[in-house]
Formats: sequence, C-alpha cells, structure tokens
Amino acid sequence: MGAATSIGIVGGGQLAWMLAEAARRRGVELHVQTPGPGDPAVALASSVVQADVRDVAATRELAGRCSAISFENEWVDLDGLAALAADGVCFLPSLDALRPLVCKRSQRELLQRLNLPSPAWFVLEQVLPVAADPDPGAEATPQQPPTPSGPALPAGFAYPVMAKAASGGYDGKGTAVLRSDADLEALLQRVDPAGWIVEEFVAFEQELAVVAARDQLGQVECLPIVQTHQHQQVCDWVLAPAEAGHALQQAVRNIAASLLTALDYVGVLSIEFFYGPRGLMINELAPRTHNSGHYSIEACDSSQFDLQLLSVSGAALPEPRLQAPGALMVNLLGFEQRSADDPASAYEGPRQQLSALPDAHLHWYGKAGSSLGRKLGHITLLLREHDPAARREEAMQRLDQVRAIWPLPPGPASPDLS
Ligand code: ADP
Repeated sequence: MGAATSIGIVGGGQLAWMLAEAARRRGVELHVQTPGPGDPAVALASSVVQADVRDVAATRELAGRCSAISFENEWVDLDGLAALAADGVCFLPSLDALRPLVCKRSQRELLQRLNLPSPAWFVLEQVLPVAADPDPGAEATPQQPPTPSGPALPAGFAYPVMAKAASGGYDGKGTAVLRSDADLEALLQRVDPAGWIVEEFVAFEQELAVVAARDQLGQVECLPIVQTHQHQQVCDWVLAPAEAGHALQQAVRNIAASLLTALDYVGVLSIEFFYGPRGLMINELAPRTHNSGHYSIEACDSSQFDLQLLSVSGAALPEPRLQAPGALMVNLLGFEQRSADDPASAYEGPRQQLSALPDAHLHWYGKAGSSLGRKLGHITLLLREHDPAARREEAMQRLDQVRAIWPLPPGPASPDLS
C-alpha cells in the first residue's frame, strides 16, 4: 500500500482496536499508546506503550517505533506535543490542523471564519452582568439601589438553548438544555462560564454524518453520508446511506473538502450535521474516525479505518463505495443496572443471539468492565432493499430484532441539567 511503514496511535479503545484490525488485514504495523493492559486495542497492537494518552514522554517513545503518529481522540496535550513536533515527530493530522478542533468553542470560531453553516452561539461568560464603569469625575450623588436583574440570554436568543462544555464532553456528557433564566442561573452556579458555550436549539428533522479523509497530496474522499439517531444524546443507530439527494450530498462533500483543505488536514475527519427546515448545519467536528462510520467495515470496499491507515501512511485514497444496498449499525450499550467486571460473560446470552441474526456482524470491544450505558460493542446488519423507503422499513424491522435481544439502557426521558 504505497509508502506504508509503521503507524503509531495515541489511544487504545474501540476505535484503535478496529484500526488495528484493518492494519492487520493490510499488513501495516500499528503501535499503540494506552493506559490499561486490558484496553481493547492492546491484544491486536504490534507493540504497546502503556501510559496515559496525555503522557508526552510516552508519545516520544511511541514515535521511536513508527514513522507517523495519529490519534484516537481529541483529548491530547497539544502544547506538550509541540516539542516532539519541533524535534521532527510526524503527527497526522498535524498539531496545527488539530488545534481548532480540540474544543467546541474553537470549532465554532473556525466554522464562523470559514462561513460554514452552524448554529448561532455565544460564550456563557457573555451573560454575566458587566460591572458599570464608575465615572471618576462625577459629582457624588446619593446612590440609587441597583435594579436586581439576574443573567439573561443575549439579544437574538430565546429559550430553549443548548449549553455545552467547550472541552471534555462526549455522548451528551457536558451538555445541558436550558429552558429558562432559572436554568441559566443554575448552570452558572455549577460551572466555570469561561469553559462553556451556548447555542440556539436547532429544530432539526434528521441528524446526518459523514466521514471524510484527505491524503498527503490533498485528495479528499468521503464515505457515503449516513443518518444517525441518538437516544438521550448517545448514538443509538446509524442508517447508511442517508436518503440525501444529489444537491445535499454535494453540499456535504463541499463542506468536508473546504474544512480539510483550509486546515491542510491529513487523515480522517468526521462531521455531524443537523438537517431540517433551515438546511444543513454543522453540529460537531471530530478529528478522527467515528461511531457513525463503523458501518463501513462491512458495507464499503474501503472502511473509515482503511482511510485513516492509507492517508497517514502516505498512500493515495480510493473512493469508498457501498458494496451492499445499505447497512444499519446499532450500538450495544451496557443495559444491566449492575456493573460487571467480565462483560463478555455477563452478556454472553444476548451476544450469541445477536451473532445468530442473518447478515449480521457483531463487534464486541472486549472492554475490561461494563456499566450502564457504556459502549460495549456494535452490530452491523447489511440491508437488501434498493428502494430507499423499503430499505428504511427493512432497517426499522432489523432494529426491532436487535432491540428485542439487546434493549437500550434505562434512563431519564430527556436530557436535563444533571
Ligand atoms: P457530544 O459531544 O456530547 O456528543 P453533541 O454536541 O454532539 O455532544 O450533542 C449531542 C446531541 O445533542 C446531538 O447529537 C443532538 O441530538 C443534540 N444537540 C446538540 N446540540 C444541539 C442543538 N444546538 N440543538 C438541538 N439539539 C442539539
């Protein structure tokens, strides 16, 4: 595969595990930096640097084993890694390309700068009252008591709004729907407003996602666009391909190409969208492979993990194509109230039943422990129907089959401030 040598990956969870599977299939060495000896990617890695993903000295050791380093997630110490880059360590994507993507606030600023469609937003700090500047030259007059007024939304915004931690959030952790000034005040009581942004609440009809990649010569390729469905802000299922017409597909691809090119980005970038009456809006960018692209392992001739391996190793990217009419990917989240040290045996029965479903591919991440809502695996079901409406119906029937075996975890009916 072109200039393939050996690749390092910072992180050893399920994304690195699936990358390691693809690396094995392609005969590429994959070295992993991850803290736990039982982390999913450890068993398949060519070698392991056992250390926290933010341990820069460990990343230096990883660099000694490979020709380029990529990342499993965006929680990296960019400032710490800059010293390694200055010494010639090759990070793909580069640290400069990653910088605007590692926090939701800088993502929103990037999208604004590039004029790409995204929800209106402001920094939570903006709602704090600004202390009036006393006029030093003014005559002393009896002070009027200030009118009591609490924090309120800036002009142009109305409840409900969506508050989000700028960094560290995932799967809805670090988001809060605010429905009133009282909710806003309650949030201000418990978080540092400098680290939060607030967005308009988007009345979308569907959530869409695309996994895009750019190679070292600047060629951009995208996986087919998918529809994603979240349950309590966690991805529940993904349907590929989305029922998107030509114009919508072109808009998504143009957005992906604009972003990747503007950032001079090499590697895989995932983009989540809202789609509805106001058209397409970007919700979030992830500088990595993504849950919405897992379906591509079986459903496409090149998966998102192939795209990451190829772009990082300096090879040209193929145009990924579906090799089935469609696919449904369903996440398998821990649904037992009690945590289990050995999830493989705790969930043995449902796993066997899922494996027996026709046209089904079960991916069990081999995590060392399970808890309610933890992503333990996923299942991809290849679909047969060519007509989009019939395919959607087929997908929903197959979802029912999966849910009869593997229910969603119990939980609150809607996201709240907790
Ligand atoms: P996380 O990074 O925790 O996954 P996201 O920003 O992707 O958080 O939000 C999780 C989910 O919450 C989204 O998939 C969507 O369903 C909902 N959501 C997020 N932002 C908004 C918004 N501005 N308006 C409406 N729903 C939203």
